[in-house]
Amino acid sequence: MVALAASLITLSELNYAPEALEPYISAETIHYHHDKHHAGYVTKLNELIKDTRYENMTLEEIIRESDGAIFNNAAQVWNHTFYFDQFSPKPQKEPSGKLLDAIDTTFGNVDALKARMTAAATALFGSGWVWLAADRDKKLYIISKPKAGNPLTENLTPLIAIDVWEHAYYIDYRNDRAAAVKALWNIVDWKRVEERFNDIK
Ligand code: MN
Repeated sequence: MVALAASLITLSELNYAPEALEPYISAETIHYHHDKHHAGYVTKLNELIKDTRYENMTLEEIIRESDGAIFNNAAQVWNHTFYFDQFSPKPQKEPSGKLLDAIDTTFGNVDALKARMTAAATALFGSGWVWLAADRDKKLYIISKPKAGNPLTENLTPLIAIDVWEHAYYIDYRNDRAAAVKALWNIVDWKRVEERFNDIK
């Protein structure tokens, strides 16, 4: 009997050219970060889930139900797809509408939110992710997670991801993580962030 072909987890394509985010993220960083690191997590995950109960799950299901190496690689695949998708060479520069209202309520204003996320990214020891996330009532939280950590496991909806692994910034910013994070605010597309926020059911 021939086994059904398993559905492979695939590498998401970028919505922009590799050099499009310069000078904030270089084409060289995009090359290593997307084509090597992100792609590597995809390849590793597909190896790890082959012939396991995870093989026919969605990526989100794998993240919620796994731990160890499978969780780490699945979450890194999801996190990087989400991360690269939030940037644009022609971003909406500021939030508006209900998301802006929620930011003002929780953090005071947009600059205060950016400053708190940048501070959280600087304070996170080692590799990890800093997230803006929302609960079902659309209340906002800044979440710091080590390694591949992801707010999906807390039933929160991710809105913005900041990757603080050194591979995300070392080519362009060397050890200056704070400068790397501050630069991201020039290319975060708040239109995408608003779509994510408005989609919360
Ligand atoms: Mn990364």
